[in-house]
Amino acid sequence: MHVPRLECFDPCNMPAVTDEHRQLQAALQRFVDQEISPNVAQWDEDETFPRELYRKAAAVGLLGLGYPEQYGGTPCDSLSRMIATLELCRAGSGGVNASLNSYTIMITPLLLAGSEEIKQSIVTRILAGEAIGALAITEPSGGSDVAQLRTRAERVSGGWKLNGSKIYITSGMRADHYLVAARTGGPGAAGVSLFLVDRDWQGFSRSPLKKTGWWSSDTAALYFDDVFVPDARMIGEENGGFRLIMNNFNGERLSMACGAMGFAMVCAEEALAWARERETFGSKLIGHQVVRHKIVGMIDAILPLKAWLAQLAQRIDAGEKPVAEIALAKSAAARVMRDCADQATQILGGAGFMRGGRVERIYRDVKVMMIGGGSEEIMYELAARQLRLG
Ligand SMILES: Cc1cc2nc3c(=O)[nH]c(=O)nc-3n(C[C@H](O)[C@H](O)[C@H](O)COP(=O)(O)OP(=O)(O)OC[C@H]3O[C@@H](n4cnc5c(N)ncnc54)[C@H](O)[C@@H]3O)c2cc1C
Repeated sequence: MHVPRLECFDPCNMPAVTDEHRQLQAALQRFVDQEISPNVAQWDEDETFPRELYRKAAAVGLLGLGYPEQYGGTPCDSLSRMIATLELCRAGSGGVNASLNSYTIMITPLLLAGSEEIKQSIVTRILAGEAIGALAITEPSGGSDVAQLRTRAERVSGGWKLNGSKIYITSGMRADHYLVAARTGGPGAAGVSLFLVDRDWQGFSRSPLKKTGWWSSDTAALYFDDVFVPDARMIGEENGGFRLIMNNFNGERLSMACGAMGFAMVCAEEALAWARERETFGSKLIGHQVVRHKIVGMIDAILPLKAWLAQLAQRIDAGEKPVAEIALAKSAAARVMRDCADQATQILGGAGFMRGGRVERIYRDVKVMMIGGGSEEIMYELAARQLRLG
């Protein structure tokens, strides 16, 4: 079934868009059509995708987008990143998006607080698709309350000894470098530091986890058993890790919001294409007002979100930090994705429940968008505090 893009969903139909944005979109569309879309159903069944995809994504400029030139990146505005996310979403695979992008949630602290040596070697290799990065914050004892994390780093001669465990870590099995949060001081946020750990260091092991969705993304539990971390691999100041983690969340949440919107768009487009082909009771599905209105309802939910996210992108580029709105946009986008996945599956009928299609994957993938990167409840609490509601 050919599924055309709805013109009103195109991020390149906005006033601020330039020729460069359109060229980026065309290049990424080709990349996704050729390298990702034909393979995603099989990758989901395989619960992985080829490592080679990182190099290919780097070659087309995707991995370096928004990062400094001296480390192989291509600086760009937030709208370019939004366009890139939406193009990647068209493959309808949250698993590919999550694993391919796991470096984005660990690389900003490296750029802000890592040594030049780390940037030249590790950041450059990650942006070139030659190494994979993962961020390890969440622990079996809890993920929302980051300030209570229990993994400990004790000072030893020349560095630190790391003990503890992490859970639900994206790219956890096959990453080469892990940015790990650990307690170096007293209780609470003021006692947390960040360390950059390599996969082959003694005492570091991992085990894979099975999930409801995101099958092609590898997710793992990590175990640190007296892992020696040299001083040079502490990122930022001792006990200064919490601020770096929190700062990082804004980018992750905006990107997740764009991703959720991209998947909602796919659901609306698939449902429309199906409704235009499928016939019941002597009429195409789209001829039944109830079905037509369900699709309009999806578009109606997506378009205000698109305007809001584009506006947030512009404000971030102008130097603002709209933390509360980013948190709310992330929650709103996940709800729109959930509703669109539900309605699109309904319109596809039995076909929507069969494995291998984009809508079926998105339906399975939706829940993690309401949990990962800060759950809906935590986003509301953050917004309440930021907006000084009481
Ligand atoms: C597929 C997947 C990939 C992930 N990838 C990563 C990764 O790469 N790196 C990483 O560090 N983490 C990762 N995570 C972890 C994710 O960030 C956490 O799952 C999330 O932060 C929630 O933490 P938790 O699961 O421990 O739930 P908990 O913190 O135990 O919360 C459980 C429930 O209680 C609610 N809750 C908690 N506190 C409150 C409160 N004060 N008021 C109201 N409700 C509350 C939460 O919203 C949630 O619904 C991933 C998770 C998944 C599922």
